[in-house]
Amino acid sequence: MTKEQIAQLLSSTGKSALELHEKASRVRDQVCGNKVYLRGLIELSNTCRKNCFYCGIRASNTGVRRYLLDENEVLDAARFAWERKYGSVVIQSGERSDKEFTTFIASLLKKIHVATAHSMRITLSCGEQTEDTYQLWKDCGADRYLLRIETSNPDLYRKIHPSDGMHEYHNRIKALETLMKCGYQTGTGVMIGLPFQTLDDLVNDLLFFRSSGIHMVGMGPYIEHPDTPLFQFRNSIPTVAKRVGLSLNMIAILRLLMPDINIASTTALQTLDNDARAKGLKAGANVIMPNITPMMYKDAYLLYNGKTGVKDSPVEASENLEAMVRSIGCQLMLSQWGDPLKFAAGSSSN
Ligand code: SAH
Ligand code: SF4
Repeated sequence: MTKEQIAQLLSSTGKSALELHEKASRVRDQVCGNKVYLRGLIELSNTCRKNCFYCGIRASNTGVRRYLLDENEVLDAARFAWERKYGSVVIQSGERSDKEFTTFIASLLKKIHVATAHSMRITLSCGEQTEDTYQLWKDCGADRYLLRIETSNPDLYRKIHPSDGMHEYHNRIKALETLMKCGYQTGTGVMIGLPFQTLDDLVNDLLFFRSSGIHMVGMGPYIEHPDTPLFQFRNSIPTVAKRVGLSLNMIAILRLLMPDINIASTTALQTLDNDARAKGLKAGANVIMPNITPMMYKDAYLLYNGKTGVKDSPVEASENLEAMVRSIGCQLMLSQWGDPLKFAAGSSSN
């Protein structure tokens, strides 16, 4: 596909968008099967040292009640996922690089494996860390890592992050490369519909994914948060319907470009449109992440406005998503890791 063809597909609406999504889901079915894998999402902590201009839990937002789950809370959540026959859990957190935090994660990894009879994959999404930390966590049992590059355009990256030495595009890319070098199943992603973002940027994001050799992608719409610097540009971003449409088209095109990777249908999608997580699966995604964070913390992990499901218990969140997967005729894969085919094959999708 040429850049022009990708740009044209990305702009699809109505019937042509539906045709694109159907084509992508047929490709998923042929290559990966009509299968959806579940990952229990545990939001470990909303304490963050960074100040991304888009994110509600950025360090400078003094209105946030900060928390860190304790070991028992994490182990209970992991056991819950195991009992529901999820193949994996994702531990996501604000970024911290102090020793107390990195060793806490290391110890959690080992304990989760013991508590779940060594039968689950563990994914981390804890931001940029040193190679030593990534290696330590890998050695302690982390299998996968999610680190979104947010945008593949360095100029746009600069506009949505402060220039304080802690938010550098090249460090983000380097971290992604380090993760791959350490042997992780590596995922990345971008936000769609950011202020200042162009259609060309999104085309380049897709081409970046293809050239970077990653195994998993989680991307979703940008959603404004009132206590963030980017909120002032809320009138300049695409409408909700456009952001949802663009996100679904991005998923579908990515499936065509990289048939053997795992693609998540994200919470942010559902936040903008209650059916959009199902639509994401119908557009070629094959992973969903029920939020199994303990109830009392869910409404403190607000990256963006109006996050969906914060009042749902882990049981409700899981039951809703499991029912949704079945209702659209996809196979719900229980007790399966669901490693990306691309990783298993060590192949290249190029
Ligand atoms: N601190 C880690 C992981 C938690 S944030 C990290 O930054 O990598 C996880 C993701 O949430 C980010 O990568 C970003 O893409 C997404 N996110 C943050 N604020 C958002 C917003 N306002 N709208 C949509 N997604 C957002
Ligand atoms: Fe912190 Fe991640 Fe939010 Fe940036 S996106 S402020 S690193 S939690």
